[in-house]
Amino acid sequence: MRQSHMLIPTLKENPADAEIKSHQLLVRAGYIRQIASGIYSFLPIGRRVLNKVENIVREEMEKIGAHEMAMPALEPSELWKETGRWTTFGSELMRIHDRHNREFALGATHEEVITSLVRNEVKSYKQLPLTVFQIQNKFRDEARPRFGLLRGREFLMKDAYSFNESYESLDETYEKMFQAYSNIFRRCGLNFRAVIADSGAMGGKDTHEFMVLSEVGEDVIAYSDTSRYAANIEMAPVIATYEKPDVAVKPIEKVETPGKRSMQEVADHFGHELHEGIKAILFQVDEKFVLALTRGDHEVNDVKLKNLFDAGLVELANEEDTQRLLGAGFGSLGPINVPEEVEVVADLAVEAMVNITCGANENGFHYKNATPGEDFTVNQYADLRFIKEGDPSPDGQGTIQFARGIEVGHVFKLGEFYSERMNATFLNDQGKAKTMIMGSYGIGVSRTLAAIVEQYHDDRGITWPANIAPYQVHLLSMNPKKEDQKELADQLYENLLEAGIDVLYDDRKERAGVKFADSDLFGIPVRITVGKRASEGVVEVKERTTGEQVELDTNELVEYVKNWYKA
Ligand code: ATP
Ligand code: MG
Repeated sequence: MRQSHMLIPTLKENPADAEIKSHQLLVRAGYIRQIASGIYSFLPIGRRVLNKVENIVREEMEKIGAHEMAMPALEPSELWKETGRWTTFGSELMRIHDRHNREFALGATHEEVITSLVRNEVKSYKQLPLTVFQIQNKFRDEARPRFGLLRGREFLMKDAYSFNESYESLDETYEKMFQAYSNIFRRCGLNFRAVIADSGAMGGKDTHEFMVLSEVGEDVIAYSDTSRYAANIEMAPVIATYEKPDVAVKPIEKVETPGKRSMQEVADHFGHELHEGIKAILFQVDEKFVLALTRGDHEVNDVKLKNLFDAGLVELANEEDTQRLLGAGFGSLGPINVPEEVEVVADLAVEAMVNITCGANENGFHYKNATPGEDFTVNQYADLRFIKEGDPSPDGQGTIQFARGIEVGHVFKLGEFYSERMNATFLNDQGKAKTMIMGSYGIGVSRTLAAIVEQYHDDRGITWPANIAPYQVHLLSMNPKKEDQKELADQLYENLLEAGIDVLYDDRKERAGVKFADSDLFGIPVRITVGKRASEGVVEVKERTTGEQVELDTNELVEYVKNWYKA
């Protein structure tokens, strides 16, 4: 492609709102442009890299027998009402209505659409298992769209859905998907981990997330320093055990603590460590209120709380409800004098605490020397806290460390969540109607692209892995006003194209410095510069990533590029 007539607007400066490298570089190098918050256009070279990722995804999906289809982006609300998600998906779902006031969702995900299709078209066990996928723009009204392509409101997703006759068969499909995902992210050149995850609002149980390791990732991965164990931090069970200290129980005392609200302020006031106090947080768990207790140095994990109560929704109680139920504000809550309608649950570590401090449910007061079982009761003890670095790994091997990750893919065993609600059944080999067993499998295609840039860049621009780069070669004429340079560059452009090599040809009448800077920004792996030695038939070839340069005779050029890409 000739660059002179292509839409590749490059920028010298980072856009003001771009905080992370992938966002900065993809905008500066002319790959993407924002049109509204979280909504982007892909410019021609952006479209090309997206195609590269899409095609890797396609190939690996077809290899495991998943077939590509296309579902509409407009989804009738009736389908979402069948599963209850018209309500539970909340304000992330973009909703519109037509001229007859019928409601639609802009596709955020397609479990309902595919289940409705399959329940009508698939009747017999002989047609199962069945896996389909599509690659399509999805719409989600994210609370905080940010980081460019990492969290958009319109973004490209590959979503696949499987229908099986049994859980054993689902396990097989899941395993194949898992392998396909590993292949996809490996072919994208990514350093990633598959981690155990929470199934969230989608229903279902067994799930893994594919996480690209990156400082800018929003998720924290807890992994073992010696085994293969890795989980999203929200999911990692704590297997640490706690021993009750062998000390005499002291009498409880109420103490005035004016203005002391945070755990640290309270600990400083009493002159003890954080772990000698109790943290109490009031949650609304579906319809009821739950006071969750953890040790002062621990954090309550709301996913564990949600799973404990098998709840749909867990939220911090608001200040008003907290004041009404417990008689105090956030900084003074504790387990003593809790009304019956509030259930008190505590992390296992709390059971082993003796003579500790806690809020008095009275603003500006705390208790000291409170002891569970003596001074207050707990309705239920459970593993409720987030795992910490240094905790034993849940698989019993090694110690937990943390890393940040970008979630690029997610595989779920949905089970019967959708098929049951939507009555998707088939006749088994006995002629009996059975509910289909489902799985769903997503990849954030545009997010993956950004994740690649997070792992492949330097201070001059992007350094694409060979599989993803928009072109194989960037051809530059240093001074196209010089006839010999222009002629040779034109000739090489034709030769390379003829040899089947993808070339971007910078034929612009720009200064060499501008061309080199743009070339580094784009990140095409091989750069060929036609310069001073054009009349001798000699050009300079430079590798983008290593910076290594060689001078080559033009006769050797095609061979060189072909070999470079073979290696
Ligand atoms: P997240 O926790 O990041 O919001 P999710 O759990 O909502 O993700 P899924 O519903 O599993 O995501 O969607 C499948 C994949 O789509 C995710 O693994 C992720 O790679 C991608 N994805 C989800 N939301 C976005 C978004 N707002 N922008 C870009 N990609 C996204
Ligand atoms: Mg989300």
